[in-house]
Amino acid sequence: MAYEEYKVLLLAKQRELLAQQNLAEHDARGEAGERVRDWSDESVADEDSGLSLKEADQDTALLQQVRAALQRIENGNYGKCRVDGRPVEEKRLKQIPWAVYCLKHQLELEETSPPPATL
Ligand SMILES: [Zn+2]
Repeated sequence: MAYEEYKVLLLAKQRELLAQQNLAEHDARGEAGERVRDWSDESVADEDSGLSLKEADQDTALLQQVRAALQRIENGNYGKCRVDGRPVEEKRLKQIPWAVYCLKHQLELEETSPPPATL
């Protein structure tokens, strides 16, 4: 698959994440408004907003990865494993166009530092 095709996938993902972020910001503002009006639910509302912030953080991290991948396309470094510089499997890039490791090194990485259970 050509760089341009990955670029299309990455730009689509970037748009999707930005749209989600806009929605999340709207939600956060709405919850803050609710909290001011309803004092009895204060502690519960705090927990809720903490949770949505965490989700927003994950989206932001992913957005940064997508943008970094777009940058690598511009630099001509796209699709190379960060560990050994060899090409990342095309099948893998089709599923995760912002991947920075080949499957082998991704698996090694996950063994040493498992991803959060919520993902
Ligand atoms: Zn590798």
